[in-house]
Amino acid sequence: MKKATPWRLKVILFALGLTACSDAGNNQSEDAPETSDTIDTQRILSTSPQEEWLTYGGGYDEQRHSRLSHVSTENVEQLGVAWTYDLATNRGVEATPIVANGVMYVTSAWSIVYALDAKTGEELWVYDPDVDKSVGVNACCDVVNRGVAIYGDKVFVGVIDGRLEALDAKTGKLVWSKTTVDQSKPYTITGAPRAVNGMVLIGNGGAEFGVRGYISAYDAETGNQAWRFYTVPSPEKQPDGAASDEAFTRIGNVSWGDDGAWTTDGGGGTVWDSIVYDAENDQIIFGVGNGSPWNRQVRDPSGGDNLFLSSVIAVDAKTGRYKWHFQTTPGDSWDYTATQSIILASLPVDDSGNNRRVVMQAPKNGFFYVLDAKTGEFLSGNAFVPTNWASGLDTDGRPIEISDARYGDVPYLQTPGPLGAHNWHPMAFSPDTGLAYIPAHEIPQAYGFDPRWAIKPAKWNTGADFAAGLAVDLPPGTLQFLRAGLKGRLIGWDPVAQEARWTVEHENAWNGGVLSTAGGLVFQGKLNGEFVAYEASTGRRLWSHDLKSGGASGPGTYEIDGEQYVTITTGWGSAYALVAGFAYDEKVAPTVGKVVTFKLGATGSIPDAAFPPVDQTPKADRYGTTALLNDGLVHYARNCAVCHGPVAVSSGVLPDLRWSGYTADADAWQAVVAEGVLADTGMVSFSELLTAQEIEAIRAYVVAQAHNANVLAGN
Ligand code: CA
Repeated sequence: MKKATPWRLKVILFALGLTACSDAGNNQSEDAPETSDTIDTQRILSTSPQEEWLTYGGGYDEQRHSRLSHVSTENVEQLGVAWTYDLATNRGVEATPIVANGVMYVTSAWSIVYALDAKTGEELWVYDPDVDKSVGVNACCDVVNRGVAIYGDKVFVGVIDGRLEALDAKTGKLVWSKTTVDQSKPYTITGAPRAVNGMVLIGNGGAEFGVRGYISAYDAETGNQAWRFYTVPSPEKQPDGAASDEAFTRIGNVSWGDDGAWTTDGGGGTVWDSIVYDAENDQIIFGVGNGSPWNRQVRDPSGGDNLFLSSVIAVDAKTGRYKWHFQTTPGDSWDYTATQSIILASLPVDDSGNNRRVVMQAPKNGFFYVLDAKTGEFLSGNAFVPTNWASGLDTDGRPIEISDARYGDVPYLQTPGPLGAHNWHPMAFSPDTGLAYIPAHEIPQAYGFDPRWAIKPAKWNTGADFAAGLAVDLPPGTLQFLRAGLKGRLIGWDPVAQEARWTVEHENAWNGGVLSTAGGLVFQGKLNGEFVAYEASTGRRLWSHDLKSGGASGPGTYEIDGEQYVTITTGWGSAYALVAGFAYDEKVAPTVGKVVTFKLGATGSIPDAAFPPVDQTPKADRYGTTALLNDGLVHYARNCAVCHGPVAVSSGVLPDLRWSGYTADADAWQAVVAEGVLADTGMVSFSELLTAQEIEAIRAYVVAQAHNANVLAGN
């Protein structure tokens, strides 16, 4: 490496906004940088992911494989904490840091952006988009953010309330702000924007609440919209004047019936995570989410495939016009999003052993797919976890469904469940080993048709029965039993042979994203707080460090002054922590999020920041008839469980209602749930959805669960 940039000096100048002046006033000296500070497509294509980490997946191919090898299988045990930075949140943190020009740009909950000196962790600026916290109730999976994009002299962030904003990379000052969604609808943005060829790409989420999905491209300089591609038809199947029109006229509209809940509920198909630029074919490839409502029986009784739900789509990068699609789960009924990591690579998949440029994805539905990047042709696929919804794939890659999976009134215990066999946690691929590294899990769920289903205004609304299989008084040890059904693993997957080369079994489900390096290592954080380095070729565990918080996000790596840094954002929250409080024991305590950065020989430590313990005693005597309690169970499961936890057991990210002082008093409880007195914390009024009697039934159920706590836990 010949570049000898004085990074430290450069960072200081950069922070002071002085680089432009100093460059202008001096002749190019020997050690001047070869490139300007400006980030463009060429620089992202040519430099990352080596010294810098310039886009969410490390490079446009999103392999999350770094060519840095200072940290290797030989010396990884010398990794220690170089610095930490407190993100000051107890909500979920999912961001992968971007590192450019010696500065780290990272986000935290509520879409707050931080610029840090990547060598020291020193804060350079903070930008808070000042989100109205009541939008938090629209976030299916916590108020998380997976990071920024950088392009030109700007940093771009998708804000949870649907804004896309451009900030001055040097100062953090707002340059432009565009509202990318109809804010009267429950759209959210948690995904990282991507930037290419002077455009910024962003999608959105909300398919649990009733929205219509799309991806948009905006001009990076001005914020003007360049194109938009919808993923489901308009309710009348009429053109939108959008890039997607031709695809719906030709193949999309016919895959939907003319009535059903989708015509009022939006249909879903949100593009909430993976967006990849394929430079070789000058196309944008993105993943599409689940249907809305989930249950096709109510969404579209005609039983069509419902394009482009649960699909991978390629569109022309300049115009957004359709090029190809591959639907992983036709007629989705299970929240089987295909938004998971999309990785581009060259693989020897031809019969002749020649390399082909391929798309790899391991979506929620449990199958690993290899597609031709130019045409979308299905090349191969296989299950990477046990599945009982499909017995395999046919020659076109279409799942061979098991009929019980099309659930009716009788619940079907299915794996994968709606949290998927793989979720947002980034997958990696190493060209050195030829392996994809999948952060996989098994989290089964009983799916059943909810006979009480009705369209609800902008609230959690899936058409699946979240009370299926539950009772007020569950047998002793129910939590232990549920916990035993949850599995997490890191899989070293051979995408050519379509089989696991090695597997590491974890204690819990829902572990972190993966980083692969030319040092022969893969790094993964775990929800029990371990950050682990494995040998990439064998899965042998070589090093670990206690993060003192959840390690769910995608780690990154970069080099400054000849030293390699490995970094990860930590925190406690996101979808699984919200819904699976029962899955954890006291070893995983809620704590504040941080950026934790390692290098060889460092000896720093991670500060403790645990929250004060909660008084775990019931605040009221058990009360209520069996009918009232059962009513409370149903309404709790439908309206409260996705944030406060099934069976009223919370992880602590949001309050565990069993121990809430508000349960002691019926009027105080009504004030919160019906009148919304805590709306500025995110707990908005539910009076549109629940009667006063139903709200009181929920209180009775929650109080009963407080008294049942020891029985549930099997103590
Ligand atoms: Ca979903």
